[in-house]
Amino acid sequence: MAEHLLELRKVSQVYRSGEREFFALKDVDLALDEGEFVVLLGPSGCGKSTLLRIATGLQRPTSGEVLYRGEPLRGVNPKATIVFQTFALFPWLTVLENVEVALAARGVAPEERRRRALEMLDRVGLDGFEEAYPRELSGGMRQKVGFARAMVVEPELLCLDEPFSALDVLSAAALRGELLELWLGGKIPTKAILMVTHNIEEAVLLGDRLLIMEKDPGRIVAEIRVAIPHPRQPQAPDFRAMVDEVYALLAGETQPEPVELGSAPGEPGRIRALPNVPVVSMAGLLEALAATPGGRQDLYKLASELQVDSDQLLRIVEALELLGFVTVAKGDVALTPLGETFAEAGILARKEIFASRIRRIPIFRWLLELLEAAEGGKLRGEVVQRALELQFPPAEAEKQFGVIVNWGRYAELFAYDDTSDVLYLETVPAQSK
Ligand code: ADP
Repeated sequence: MAEHLLELRKVSQVYRSGEREFFALKDVDLALDEGEFVVLLGPSGCGKSTLLRIATGLQRPTSGEVLYRGEPLRGVNPKATIVFQTFALFPWLTVLENVEVALAARGVAPEERRRRALEMLDRVGLDGFEEAYPRELSGGMRQKVGFARAMVVEPELLCLDEPFSALDVLSAAALRGELLELWLGGKIPTKAILMVTHNIEEAVLLGDRLLIMEKDPGRIVAEIRVAIPHPRQPQAPDFRAMVDEVYALLAGETQPEPVELGSAPGEPGRIRALPNVPVVSMAGLLEALAATPGGRQDLYKLASELQVDSDQLLRIVEALELLGFVTVAKGDVALTPLGETFAEAGILARKEIFASRIRRIPIFRWLLELLEAAEGGKLRGEVVQRALELQFPPAEAEKQFGVIVNWGRYAELFAYDDTSDVLYLETVPAQSK
């Protein structure tokens, strides 16, 4: 029987936040075979990091099984390592010592430690820097030390949690190239790589298989095989087509029925979480679309045009979809007539359009009713946050409050005084300002 290197069977992770329990992962099945480079992609909060921790045994799932080479995983998997976004190098140790530490922790004898650490540093192109201290290195080089430290223990399973996202563009590109060279050239004993990223181009550049995740509950919803041979050329038509396809999957399709608006606090049903997007970003995207022939553009092209990452772009698109300014289909986002009107309108007309759209959202309707009923049309922000905390964890409730204030202020539905934490109705109508 063909045995997988790693297998997750019906893995679920439940977290509790206050009174609320939620599935950070629900019934996730995943198999990873030798020779595979698999990439997890999905919006923030869909459980990617949780999945990596479970895959390496750093965390036990609430339910489900984790098998390594067919055997149930108990405790931390000694054959696996995780590389995080930012490496915690010990500032008081040299580069060489920082790498040796990983081996010392595994009981490797000093001479052997030194030999292997030197060899790994050489392989990642850090020879000559063995005696340097982390502070003397650039971000990219520090990250290389992190990779060397992860790889020196010769992990069979290398897990990477957004390892390039804290680097500048050039260092990230260089380090990706080096990782591929080590991996494809068989210069490391690693048997499989599981990487989390937000960067769709990076996923298509490196991965053999991309798993697309969604949140609420966190799960895998699609799988794409990338059959493009290495070295992959980001500008080549097959590469662009693949990037476009991934965007299409991540963006989903606008449903023919009206967008789900959710409920208000105190009403049955769930409050719809508003995408955490400021109005300026929405306006920017609408303007960019309006300047495109036909008011329609590929999502991946928009991301590079607006210089935002895919996660951020998808959030902006989600907000615009919620408000009825765009529709999404097959990886394209298109202006609706309303979106077009907004893009062409002047400042006041924009505010009016925006106000009429957000008045439809139950949470705004609820808030306006509260304000109208309140003495002097005033309300403490804290009250609203507390109502939001009935459904959202405190940190999320705070974010939601921030979005509500940002959108409501722009629309001049109400004003908010940060210092006194007071929301109040605008007495002067927008037109006469
Ligand atoms: P991602 O890496 O995709 O952003 P995470 O795995 O970090 O997702 O988190 C998934 C969800 O679980 C998020 O809503 C996060 O806030 C929540 N979460 C993560 N770790 C914990 C924890 N230890 N306790 C409670 N909630 C958590």
